[in-house]
Amino acid sequence: MQYFSSDFTLGILGGGQLGKMLLAETRKWDIQTFVLDPSADAPCKIACHQFFQGDLMDFDTVYDFGKQVDILTFEIELVNLLALEQLESEGKKVFPSPKTLRKIQNKGVQKEQYIKHQIPTAKFLRFADIQHLAFNIQNKALALPFVWKCTEFGYDGYGVKVIRSENDLKNLPNVECIAEEMVPFKNELAVIVVRSAVGEIKTYPVVEMEFHPEANQVEYVICPARIDENVAQKAKEIALKVADVFEPVGLLAVEMFQTENDEILVNEVAPRPHNSGHYSIEASYTSQFENHLRAILGLPLGNTESKVAGIMVNLVGAEGFSGNVKYENIENILKIDGVTPHIYGKRQMRPFRKMGHVTIVNEDMARARKIAEEVKNTIRVVSE
Ligand code: ADP
Repeated sequence: MQYFSSDFTLGILGGGQLGKMLLAETRKWDIQTFVLDPSADAPCKIACHQFFQGDLMDFDTVYDFGKQVDILTFEIELVNLLALEQLESEGKKVFPSPKTLRKIQNKGVQKEQYIKHQIPTAKFLRFADIQHLAFNIQNKALALPFVWKCTEFGYDGYGVKVIRSENDLKNLPNVECIAEEMVPFKNELAVIVVRSAVGEIKTYPVVEMEFHPEANQVEYVICPARIDENVAQKAKEIALKVADVFEPVGLLAVEMFQTENDEILVNEVAPRPHNSGHYSIEASYTSQFENHLRAILGLPLGNTESKVAGIMVNLVGAEGFSGNVKYENIENILKIDGVTPHIYGKRQMRPFRKMGHVTIVNEDMARARKIAEEVKNTIRVVSE
């Protein structure tokens, strides 16, 4: 198929920042794109050929959108799966496939896949609702503390809560959930795997998430992770094993815990571009977005290695503000070498909403880490 400067159309479900960064690659190659998103001012709107406003969970909306494109992909997992299955059964190319998404979309189903395929993961129990869970605490079948996770519709930590007493159950939504053993981890790691429509497979280097000591929020994504080579090798091998289970076409981000005794446990996966791979735009030979595109089009994959050390700082809305967004001090960080801000184009900010990120590249990791801290302390995302 002729993709470049042709009538070929790639459809993207979801019009957020991940889609917007993917569109930077489709524009580089002059590939035509349609995007569907519920929000009238989604970040993708300025960068696609045609924008459709509609509900990603609605069967007809997703089905009708899919009918108009040649290949369909998504930048968010919360899409109508039945519509994707219907489109695929009618011969439409949907990448990653609905079969992959079906094994991932529900966290309970996803965790069961790890158990079935002997992939190391934290122990868990699955419950239909909160009553069922509470009953198991009372019967001592479930020990406190544990990590509660809703199985669907959770994102960026909103569907996750540490439960230390029965009292903590009070404000939880009454939905299907899992209770997972607390993992005493010393590091959170991630490996992005890319697998093409013709089966070529590569991994990006292991990255490390550095947390704020008090706020328990990821502050920096650091590539390569500052860990022992043997542990990094083990993390990559496990990520490839996970890819064998889900058989994605496109990207698969595998989030993992490194425990105190250097065991690797898989936390969760995302079959799409991922926050932990944003550094790759500036630091890698081929960014995660370009490789996602290459993979779903069945083209040769690009080099996933890094050219330099890369650190990513998320720009999230400051606490105590909400409304029309204002970025403070971007000019100041632009004076520093190797610093690139990405502004997502969301007009409204609220506390902790992801509004952009900054990548820092440097030959020297220690220097990159120092600059990252300076960036973090300089920029603020507030409201007008
Ligand atoms: P989300 O899909 O919202 O990103 P995650 O499953 O990644 O949810 O959980 C969010 C965060 O909660 C993780 O990054 C980690 O810091 C913490 N967490 C999740 N599961 C566990 C666990 N079993 N033990 C300890 N901490 C956990």
